Formats: sequence, structure tokens, C-alpha cells
Amino acid sequence: MAETLSTKKKAEQIWKKCLHFIKENVNEKNYQTWFVPIKPIEFSDNKLLIQVPSMFFYEFIEENYINLIKKALELHAGKDVTLNYLIDVNTTSNDSQSKIKLPNVSVNTKNPPVNVNNGSSSSSTKINPFAIPGIKKIQIDSHLNPNYSFENLVEGECNRLARTAAYAVAEKLGQTAFNPLFIYGGVGLGKTHLAQAIGIEVKKRYPDKIVLYVQTDRFTSQYTEAVRENKQNDFVHFYQMVDVLIIDDIQFLAGKEKTQETFFHIFNHLHQLGKQLVITSDRSPVDLPEMMERLVSRFKWGLQADITPPDYETRKKILEKKIELEGIQIPDEVISYIAQSITTSVRELEGALISIMAHSSINKRPITVELAKEIVDKFARNINREITVEMIQKVVCEYFNLKPEELKAKTRRREIVQPRQIIMYFAKKYTKASLQVIGAMCGGKDHSTVLHACRNIEDLKDTDRQIRTYIQDIDKKLNLSISTKPL
Ligand code: ADP
Ligand code: MG
Repeated sequence: MAETLSTKKKAEQIWKKCLHFIKENVNEKNYQTWFVPIKPIEFSDNKLLIQVPSMFFYEFIEENYINLIKKALELHAGKDVTLNYLIDVNTTSNDSQSKIKLPNVSVNTKNPPVNVNNGSSSSSTKINPFAIPGIKKIQIDSHLNPNYSFENLVEGECNRLARTAAYAVAEKLGQTAFNPLFIYGGVGLGKTHLAQAIGIEVKKRYPDKIVLYVQTDRFTSQYTEAVRENKQNDFVHFYQMVDVLIIDDIQFLAGKEKTQETFFHIFNHLHQLGKQLVITSDRSPVDLPEMMERLVSRFKWGLQADITPPDYETRKKILEKKIELEGIQIPDEVISYIAQSITTSVRELEGALISIMAHSSINKRPITVELAKEIVDKFARNINREITVEMIQKVVCEYFNLKPEELKAKTRRREIVQPRQIIMYFAKKYTKASLQVIGAMCGGKDHSTVLHACRNIEDLKDTDRQIRTYIQDIDKKLNLSISTKPL
């Protein structure tokens, strides 16, 4: 016993020093994700045994951080120390019934635990007691775009965690603790691509699984329609039948309580059966406004992985990938030039490349840095424009043939109130202005009036054809006013 205690103490001491070193060499988030969960178990015979929460965790550390850990160990425990892993299965999930049980194994870094999965294969194949043999699974359209595959998605520091986790989810379907996998990040950084890649990979590996990709807007309008036709049950049953549900841009569920409630039930049902959920969002769960607390807390059950803008090298690789897919050739210095100039999103990077190719082929000009410069300059000038509250006011006034002063008048006339509410709705949707600011700019309204207006338009948009047309038209005009002008 004394022996065990001292080897444990020793392990703790060494690991504490190693952590100190590691902390200085990785960013805080990675430190919290990958190092804090590790437990030092024992140190004896020059071997340090650490416990990690899952097989995936072990693999991720081996792939990404082993050199750093080696260095830390060299510094604090000497050169000849080997690292052994213990995989603790009991910590992998909140929901033990849906996860596999790996036997505790001790793994030398030089000897990966190849037989771990095989050893537990009988317990990992789950039998569904409700499946009636002989009934053929129905076919549904998964709504997957074959271009959005893992092969076509370039990996970089910006998406490493998200991509690795996504791949693990697809490869070891139902066996990772990443349920839901919550992918978040800014516009055009590859969330949809990555989420779709999971679906494609699952279909490739497990053709019988029902995979369904759905945009949140579509989910919402399907739900509204189901309510109108009194077919809520069919709607819910349909979604409860899938094995992998990918729901894109969940932030659009904000403020839609009924749809959230329904999604909550679908989520619970699927999660309990060990079905995989993949969710994307433009922000982290805690930053989602007007989202039911119960739902937000579930989003945090699995893994949250963010995607950040790509660095220069990754931008270059992405361009090279696109060029390879297009089957064309572009000089290296042109690629470097685009990668240097467009830094904010992959979608813009692609857009610039496509413009350059189009311009070159239409005008029969060779693709040179000079041509790239002309186009990128114009492109950058346009894409940096943002939609402002003023722009929205202008577009809406023009659309309804109103004078800006009329909008600010104290009146309850529908011809004024509705456009004003539409402005508030778009201001909340597209700008970073606070509700107070939006209210102040729309005739001195307070923030609850703005919130009410936004909800009202949201609801009408789904139920009132006329309003839907207004919203679609104005949306187009707004986006047109900031998009790239034809060259
Ligand atoms: P988001 O959903 O985050 O707004 P998308 O997934 O629609 O972004 O990505 C925008 C475009 O950029 C897509 O055409 C996608 O294929 C491409 N893209 C994004 N990230 C990558 C990447 N890492 N490698 C290759 N293409 C990418
Ligand atoms: Mg998207």
C-alpha cells in the first residue's frame, strides 16, 4: 500500500511539473481540453502511467502532442522515461448505456493498443430490441453534397479539433463521447462542409444507416407546415427514425419556442438510443440568445469544437485543393497573392479564385499576379462592406415607398408599423447593434418593443405569404447591395 501511494505521489509530482511546462506551450483551450482531463496514476521503473478518458483521446494526444509531452517528461523525469496510458471508459460519457465499454488497458506509446477495439467488439455491437427482422429500412434523401467530403476539406490549425472529432464520429459511429458534436464558428469557415463530410463518411462506411442533413430554417418551416396540417406526430416520428441527424445553423432556432420544444424531444429520443447528433452554429452554445436553457445544456453534453479563420499556409492549401479539383493550373505566385490578400473566410477565398478564373477565361487573359491584383482589390473592397442599420432603413423605405421621417412617426398605422418591424428584424439579424440601439434608431422604441417586433416578423414570415415575400425581396436587395459587383 505504501508502495502504491508513493508511486502515485511520484507520478503526481512529475505530472504537475510537466503540466506547468505544457501550459506554457499550448493555448488555454487546448490545455483545458486535452491536458486537464489526464490523471497521473503511477510512476515506477521509469514508466509514467497516465489515465485518459477515451481511446480517441489517446489517439489525439499521440498524434498531436506526443512531442510536447516527451519534452516535458525529459525535462522533469529524465531521458529514459516511457509513457503508458490507461484508458478509463467510465469517464467517457454522461450516458453510459450508449457507449462502448473498453477494458482498462495499459498502453506503451510505442505499442498502440491495437486489440482494444477487437477485444470489446461484442459489447460494441448494439442490438435494437425494437427492430423487427425483415422490415426493410426506408430510403430517404440525406441531402448530402458529394463535394463536401473529408477528402476535399483541408486540415489546418483552424479546424483540427473539429475535423478530427468529426472524423472520429463518422468512423466510430456511436462509439465516441462526442454526442452531440457541436461545431461552431464564423460565416464561411467550413461548418456546413464539415458537418456534411460526417454524413458522407457515415454513408460510405455504414450504407444502411439513415443519415439526414437539414438546415434549421428548413426544419422550422417543415414544423410550421406540420402544425398547420395537424401532422406534428408524423413530423416527430420522421426525425426520430434517423441514425445520424445533422442540423445546420441552429442559431436560427433562436426565439422559436415551439420548434425548440419539438427539437428538444427529438434530440432526447435520438440521444437516448445512442443515435448521433451533429449541430452547427455561428456561435458557442452559451452565446445562443433566446434558446431554451434545457436545450443549451444538452448542446454541452458532447464536444464543442470551434473553427477559426485559416492561417496563411492553410489558405494556400485550400486554394491548391480547389485548383486541383477544377483541374486547372495557376502559377504559385498568384496563389500566394490571393492567400495573402483574402484572410477572413474560406468562402471569400473561393469567391476570389472563381472570379479570377472566370475573368481569365472570358477575356482570354492569362492568370497572372497582375490580373489577380485587379480582381482581388475590387473583391476586397466589396466584401468588407457590412450591412448597417442605415442601409436596412434605406432599402426598406425604398421598397415600401416611404420617407425616412415617416418611419419615426408615432403612429400605429399598419403601413408604418410593419416596415418598422421589418427594419428591426433585419437589424437584429444582420448587424451587431444592440436591441437598445436598434430601438433608438427606429423612432425611440425600447428593447422589448424591438424583441416583440422581431418575434412577430419571425412568426409572420412562416405563416403569412405576403410578409414572406416582403422578407425575401428585402433580404435579396440587402445582400445584393453588399455582394461583389460583376466585373
Ligand atoms: P460555413 O457553413 O461555415 O458558413 P461552408 O461550409 O459553407 O461555411 O464553407 C464555405 C466554402 O468554403 C465551401 O465551399 C467549403 O467547401 C469551403 N471550405 C471551407 N473550409 C474549407 C477547408 N478547410 N478546405 C476546403 N474547403 C473549405
Ligand atoms: Mg453553413
